[in-house]
Amino acid sequence: MNAPVPPPVACGGIDLHQEHGQRAVFCGLTGIVWLHRKIQDAFFLVVGSRTCAHLIQSAAGVMIFAEPRFATAIIDERDLAGIADANEELDRVVTRLIERRPDIKLLFLVGSCPSEVIKLDLSRAAQRLSGRLAPVRVLNYSGSGIETTFTQGEDACLAALVPELPRAPAEAAPSLLIVGALADVVEDQFLRIFSAMGIADVRFLPARRAGAMPAVGRNTRYLLAQPFLADTARALHERGARRLAAPFPLGTEGTTGWLRAAAEAFGIDDVTFAAATAAGRARSETALAPHREKLAGKRVFFFPDSQLEVPLARFLARELGVDLVEVGTPYLHRAHLAAEIEMLPAGTRVTEGQSLDDQMDRCRAARPDLTVCGLGLANPLEAEGLSTKWSIELLFTPVQGYEQAGDLAELFARPLRRRALLEV
Ligand code: SF4
Repeated sequence: MNAPVPPPVACGGIDLHQEHGQRAVFCGLTGIVWLHRKIQDAFFLVVGSRTCAHLIQSAAGVMIFAEPRFATAIIDERDLAGIADANEELDRVVTRLIERRPDIKLLFLVGSCPSEVIKLDLSRAAQRLSGRLAPVRVLNYSGSGIETTFTQGEDACLAALVPELPRAPAEAAPSLLIVGALADVVEDQFLRIFSAMGIADVRFLPARRAGAMPAVGRNTRYLLAQPFLADTARALHERGARRLAAPFPLGTEGTTGWLRAAAEAFGIDDVTFAAATAAGRARSETALAPHREKLAGKRVFFFPDSQLEVPLARFLARELGVDLVEVGTPYLHRAHLAAEIEMLPAGTRVTEGQSLDDQMDRCRAARPDLTVCGLGLANPLEAEGLSTKWSIELLFTPVQGYEQAGDLAELFARPLRRRALLEV
C-alpha cells in the first residue's frame, strides 16, 4: 500500500512536496571519481568491502592504465567478525601505501557502510597516521550509503578539508573563494572573467594541489559552484567566511547571476561588469539557440539524485523553453537555492526526498519526453520506451560557465535525438 501523500509545503512560488520512502541513489563514494582527478597529489583510500571497490572501479571505468589515486582497503570476514584488529591492518596498509607512493601528500580515509557497521573510528585513525606519516596529511570523511547520497561525498570531503586550511589574517584584503570541484578549464575561464572585472585575488576549493589550499578568514567571500555543499558552507561560515547569495553558474542566466554576485560584493561597476561578461554571454546565447529549437515544449521529469536538479530545471525552463513535469531533489537547501527557487516557473512541482514506487508511478503516468535519473532507473525506463539522461554525467562533464552552456544543453538534446532516430 502506498504511503499517504503529505500536503504541499509553502516555499516561494513552487509546489513543494516532501516524500519519504525507498530511495534509489548512489552513495557518496562516487565523488571520488571526480575528486581524485582534481587534487592531483591526493589519494583516496576507501575502507570498505569488495562491493565498495566494485562501485568505484565501475564508476571510474575499469580501463585504468596509470597508477590510480584511489584504492580500497578491503574489510574482510575476519574484520567483520572482530577476529583481526582492523586498526592494525589499516595502519599496515596505509604505511605500505605511503612508502610505495611518495607522490601522495594528502590521504583521505573514506568511510563506508562496512566501516561504520564495525564502528571503525577513522577520525582517530587519521589523527594517529597523520602523526606517524608527517608531512603527509591524513584526513577522513564518510562516503557511506547510510550517511551520504551521491554528491554528498564531495561535500563531506571538502568539509573535512576546511579545518586544515591556512587562516587568513584578520587584516587581509577581501578575497574571493570559489567552492566546489570544477574542471580546470572552467576554473581558468572564470579566472579570466574575474580578472577582467578587476577581482584579482580568487582562489578555489579544492585547489589542484594539497600544498596550495586557500587561506580562509573573516575577509573571505565565497561563491558556491555546486548546490550540494551544505556542510562545507557551514564549516566555512564557522571560520568567518561569508557566502555570496547567487544562482548557480549553469547556462547564460545562471552564470551571469553568479558572476554578478561577486561583482556586487567587490564593488565592480555595471560598465566594467558588462564589458567583462558581454563576449561570453553572446557566445553562450548563440550556442543555446539551436538547442532551444529542439527542446522547447519538451516535457522533462527529474528523479532526485545529484542535488543539481533545481538549477538544471531553472536553466531548461527559462533558457530552453522546456516544460517541467516534476523536479525531484534528494534535499532542498532553502537558503543556498533561494535564487534558483525564485526563478523556477510559478507552480513547478518540486519533490524533496523520495518514495521510489510513487515517483515511478507518476513518471510512467506522465510519459515525459525526457527523464533525468540515476543509472539504476535508466535501463528499466528506457525499456518502457522513455528517453533518459544519466544525472551522473552532469558531474563528470564540464557544464558550468558561458563556454559550456551549449554542451550542457546538448546533454539533454542528445537522448531525444537518439530516440527519434530509433523510432524512424
Ligand atoms: Fe555499497 Fe555502502 Fe559501499 Fe556505498 S559504501 S558501495 S552503499 S556498501
